[in-house]
Amino acid sequence: MSLQPSDETSPRDTLAWVFDTYGDRAALSTAFGPSGVALMHLAGEVNPGARVFFVDTGFHFDETLAMVERAHAAMNVTIEVLTPRLTVEEQALVHGDQLYVIDPDRCCAMRKVEPTQRMLDGLDAWVTALRRDQGPSRARTPIVEHKQHGGRTLAKVNPLVRWTSKDVWRYVIAHDLPYNPLHDQGYPSVGCWPCTQAATDPGDERSGRWAGKGKTECGLHTMI
Ligand code: SF4
Repeated sequence: MSLQPSDETSPRDTLAWVFDTYGDRAALSTAFGPSGVALMHLAGEVNPGARVFFVDTGFHFDETLAMVERAHAAMNVTIEVLTPRLTVEEQALVHGDQLYVIDPDRCCAMRKVEPTQRMLDGLDAWVTALRRDQGPSRARTPIVEHKQHGGRTLAKVNPLVRWTSKDVWRYVIAHDLPYNPLHDQGYPSVGCWPCTQAATDPGDERSGRWAGKGKTECGLHTMI
């Protein structure tokens, strides 16, 4: 088994370590942003058929949903689509049809965090496309963390932490990979449609997410 990656380890070598160490108990999460696309492509090269999961919250843009098939066709990965326990309609009946306005933390907890936690219950390593330059909330992201999840240790591995937005786009273009067309319309970061607008701060690519709500993360990366 190779040594645990450090900040100097390349994304490709970090992925090789993940799959050598954890095999099929490792999977990548993505919402099909450019970083996720680049990471998926690398993972498919390092470990053909690598597991990827996407949470379909029921509130994604059509352009994002189309990325499932586009990514599958272009990359050597296996994509699993997860869904929340309640449909959008069921959630509206129980909690009202604008929970994302009234209590976005609760909406994210039900529609993003819970399905992800269910997936993580069956994994030993969670691979993400987090980057330090994505904004202040991610500036200190380590390359490997060992977290407690469900009474056991889960590795959270972030191979692209040192890449910049330019590095990511250079990779996506150089490999002719598919990407969400909303990125060409002023949305550097795309989430659910009720909580995504064009970026308000050019120095913070996530500034269009939950704009004006005092919220910067859905909770996925702060839950464990
Ligand atoms: S991003 Fe908005 S719509 Fe999506 S789960 Fe969170 S609060 Fe709900």
